[in-house]
Amino acid sequence: MAKANTNNKEWNLAPAPESADHVQVKEKYDLFIGGKFRAPSGKKYFPTINPANEEVIAHIAEANERDVDMAVKAARKAYREVWSKISAAERGKYLFRIARLIQERAREFAIIESMDGGKAIRESRDVDIPLAAAHFFYHAGWTDKLQYAFPHQKVEPLGVAGQIIPWNFPLLMAAWKIAPALAAGNTVVLKPAETTSLTALKLAELIQDAGLPNGVVNIVTGAGPTGRALVEHPDVDKIAFTGSTDVGKMIQRSLAGTRKKLTLELGGKAANIILEDATIDQAVEGIINGIFFNQGHVCCAGSRLFVQESIASEVDRRLKHRMNSLILGDPLDKNTDIGAINSKGQLATIESYIAKAKKEGLEMFQVDCAVPRKGFWCRPTLFSDVAQSSVIAREEIFGPVLAIQTFRTIDEVIDKANNTPYGLSAGVWTDKGSRIFNLTSRLRAGVVWANTYNKFDPTSPFGGYKESGFGREGGVHGLRAYVKLDA
Ligand code: ADP
Repeated sequence: MAKANTNNKEWNLAPAPESADHVQVKEKYDLFIGGKFRAPSGKKYFPTINPANEEVIAHIAEANERDVDMAVKAARKAYREVWSKISAAERGKYLFRIARLIQERAREFAIIESMDGGKAIRESRDVDIPLAAAHFFYHAGWTDKLQYAFPHQKVEPLGVAGQIIPWNFPLLMAAWKIAPALAAGNTVVLKPAETTSLTALKLAELIQDAGLPNGVVNIVTGAGPTGRALVEHPDVDKIAFTGSTDVGKMIQRSLAGTRKKLTLELGGKAANIILEDATIDQAVEGIINGIFFNQGHVCCAGSRLFVQESIASEVDRRLKHRMNSLILGDPLDKNTDIGAINSKGQLATIESYIAKAKKEGLEMFQVDCAVPRKGFWCRPTLFSDVAQSSVIAREEIFGPVLAIQTFRTIDEVIDKANNTPYGLSAGVWTDKGSRIFNLTSRLRAGVVWANTYNKFDPTSPFGGYKESGFGREGGVHGLRAYVKLDA
């Protein structure tokens, strides 16, 4: 595929594409139920495409209610007959084995992730896949130590967990969900997002190779109706959902009054705040990382930038300079910073927000780079002097679009940053530790990064306030969502 570097010749690099020759992708993928791949009972398959060139990569089975029922039954049987019977240390061995196999096959996973989802290989290779392995390693260590995680309490698994994940971090989200569930002794039915099912299905193959007892992990593919069937299935004990706030609210309504436990990780509209004493270059790099890498397809993306007035013009200048050096193009190229937008539908959503912001009369800056003819692409975009009332300061865009606002005082920026229905994450850039503590304790966000952004670790809980959801993933807090505690 033709590389689309920026027009700025200074930054042009020779193409360095990752070879996909050794990657094995089948033409057709069935459902993973009870340890075996099975054709969907409705015999329907849907294509999964490479968003960078619109070519069909494979066909994915569409699970209907009957298939979901079979998967839940398989998970229940495995829970009752095997997983709840074996020792905790034995469970840990399986998790360690899965972690090691992910590491061994990391390169293949990274390439498939970039082909199916559009993200730059640098991200999938250096972030997604290593973190997925790290989640299994971390939780493997907890399996036989749950009584230390929750001292003086009787710790029991919940049973069967239904898990629904989005398309922005496909394998990593699967790991975030599956690893703690298994560590705590539950079995799982996981539904990946319809545009990015491939690495979850490759994970199913890996799980077979790891010898995990049949039915402990089941993977059903499909779109919203498949997810709904899982949510509504009467024999599921817990639903863990990551996705849009709208679907999260629907799920919460449908589970109201049932015995099922629920955790939701939903949208965000994170504030990244630069104070006048910050190291500007470091902050600019963090802002770029927070919103443009991964095409802004991150629920904790730093999509609102608040800059203290005295440094606003300097930050603006350096930000635009750095944006001009970003390389947009082939996700499999190791030099690429910005890959493809995940789907045609998502590109249309992003473009509609850009159009609305232009209509509001906001000043736009867009990197002037060529984009490939085929595929779904959006140039890194920023809007300056955005008002609090602007649609791009209020709503989640899930694309590489940054809304910049300025402020004078700390109280003002805290008010502005908290003035959102979301509360997932935030970032603070300053030289003074006291200011970090002041801001981090007053920002209503589940995660606040200081002098860095988008840093993840399995030991550290992640999750939101307000319409960003409830419950935490990662760390001991994340395990809590998969156990019953009796004092
Ligand atoms: P996004 O906007 O990030 O695509 P969605 O909330 O639409 O977020 O999708 C996240 C996940 O939820 C996907 O796996 C999707 O298939 C699933 N999903 C969509 N609609 C429903 C629904 N009504 N019930 C359960 N899951 C759903």
